[in-house]
Amino acid sequence: MIDQATVQKIFDAANILEVVSGFVSLKRRGTNYVGLCPFHNEKTGSFNVSPERGIYKCFGCGKGGNAVNFIMEHEQMSYVEALRYLAAKYGIPVEERELSEEQKRERGERESMLVVSSYAKEYFMDQLHRTDEGRSVALSYLRQRGIPLEMIDKFGIGYSPVARDAFSRTALEKGYKQEYLIKTGLCVEKEYGLVDRFRERVIFPVLDIAGKVIAFGGRTMSSDKKLAKYVNSPESEIYHKSQTLYGIYHAKKSIVQQDRCILVEGYTDVISFHARGIENVVASSGTALTVEQARLIRRLTPNVTIIYDGDPAGINASLRGIDLLLEQGLNVRIVLLPEGEDPDSFARGHTSLELSEFIAREETDFISFKTRLLLGDAGGDPIKRAGVITDIVRSIAKIPDNIIRSVYIRETAMQMEVEEQVLCAEITKIHRQGPERPPAIPVAQGTRPAVPETLPVPVSPCDVEERALIRYLLLYGTLELDGETGEEEVSRAATVGEFIIRELEDDELTLLNPLYNTIREEYQKQLASPSFLPARHFIAYPDERVNAEVADILSDPYELSKLWSRQGNLVESEQMKLVDFLPKVLNNYKMRRLEILILDINNRILELQNDGNAEEIVECIKRKKALYDLRGRLSQELGRTGVR
Ligand code: ATP
Ligand code: MN
Repeated sequence: MIDQATVQKIFDAANILEVVSGFVSLKRRGTNYVGLCPFHNEKTGSFNVSPERGIYKCFGCGKGGNAVNFIMEHEQMSYVEALRYLAAKYGIPVEERELSEEQKRERGERESMLVVSSYAKEYFMDQLHRTDEGRSVALSYLRQRGIPLEMIDKFGIGYSPVARDAFSRTALEKGYKQEYLIKTGLCVEKEYGLVDRFRERVIFPVLDIAGKVIAFGGRTMSSDKKLAKYVNSPESEIYHKSQTLYGIYHAKKSIVQQDRCILVEGYTDVISFHARGIENVVASSGTALTVEQARLIRRLTPNVTIIYDGDPAGINASLRGIDLLLEQGLNVRIVLLPEGEDPDSFARGHTSLELSEFIAREETDFISFKTRLLLGDAGGDPIKRAGVITDIVRSIAKIPDNIIRSVYIRETAMQMEVEEQVLCAEITKIHRQGPERPPAIPVAQGTRPAVPETLPVPVSPCDVEERALIRYLLLYGTLELDGETGEEEVSRAATVGEFIIRELEDDELTLLNPLYNTIREEYQKQLASPSFLPARHFIAYPDERVNAEVADILSDPYELSKLWSRQGNLVESEQMKLVDFLPKVLNNYKMRRLEILILDINNRILELQNDGNAEEIVECIKRKKALYDLRGRLSQELGRTGVR
């Protein structure tokens, strides 16, 4: 981790105009600069840079943020990588925070492992193209599998010879240290010396999102049925399988451009799709999809299409993947291939046009997918129907975003011909029960169960709305409200931030998401400070979870468009319409909170009806009425401040 003082220095030095100009040609317009947006295709410039505020903003695609966010987005770097990049650009020495000897050693170790891996990739490629064994065994196999030479080069496919220490010996001769050969898993130590992990295998290098070689997968060329068809590098300091997606480096640009990520099963699927010109493809490579992989995708797009085999294993993998992706706030579509086909064979058997047309035609949302799959021919069977509805509702309950959830509820209600309210009540019930827990693992006396190192931020039912508020605080908090509009509440406050903080305070509202609430509290404390710059303050705030969340919010273009598209309103120029939007964002949030209270009370009434507790029911109905009144007033206000 980079120490706070250095982070601050980097932020101070990173001039947004200079940083962006490195990639986009900008023209001056008033106090701002305008150019063609690098994040979406356009012919007229909607991409604005404000040197004064230190931010960029595209009014076409909605992306915006500060200099660090720009580098993160443009170069697909992590927050820390972007900071290092800018530090290098501005000649700021990066002092590591409390880097222990141990950590320094680890850093050196990681670098050495990356160097060895990169050499190994070159070695394997060389073996494939420049040895008789490679050409006759592996190159011919790849050709026969229909993988064009161009793709072999692009993905750095190689070959590891049959001799058991071919690579080990060469690497040692070249001076690579035994230690790192073992730590990367490329070589295994035996009593008689080093042997290669990959022998007589076609090698697929695995790259991280920045293009560094971190692992390998090898497919056997041997006819020996006892050998595993695929062997992969073991987990190591540079390779965390659960955080890696095969193909991410080659797919990232296309994923961002298409605003969609296609998910397939393995190496060859990814490569065959690329050969057909479809490049927004990644694979989870031989394991079930993980939360970290879903988050990696979410950095690039909220839209995922799963393409798996039409066999039971493929279907099961899709079902597991759906819930996990939904839980991470991603929108999921599914394409099932004809029985007996996998993405690789299907891509090879069809032209580019056929392939993309097939995907477009066959893509279904998860509700239709589950309905079709689970209901099958038993359309009229009420018990089966109920089971399917329960199953779908469980999936919907996992979606963190209220708005998306309500869209799916409506869709399910229509498809399954049930009342929306019934589905809503069911979802509230599931939420009440709390997250599904895996069965408790018995622990031996005196030992504690393992706790994950970083606890995920719990998802509150108002996350989208709260995130929108925080985003306003961060991006526009210090903007002055000049009281141009007739909005009374708005003109009462001097700045956007003050307005939001005061409004919440007036209604005694704290934010439900603890992380957002931390930001709100700290913001409140800083309000009086004249030098307070929100984005800068929080991105360098001494709490990594806050840093990460803030960087995420600043670089996430989706939240607001989601929020407003529901009301048929486009965020054209958020900043310009600030005075209009601001009361809406707040009222919208208050509305959400009210709706949750109402849902809760409705459920409580249902419960009480079952218990026959008349007195409390009367109480609840009174409270419900008060809430309804409040909601009525609020929605009138929302209408007033609504779309013109
Ligand atoms: P075949 O020629 O017999 O079809 P294949 O090489 O296509 O073999 P499959 O068994 O069809 O392999 O598997 C499909 C994909 O799943 C492969 O492209 C591979 O990337 C991936 N895969 C399968 N097993 C593993 C594994 N153990 N580790 C990583 N990836 C795997
Ligand atoms: Mn296959």
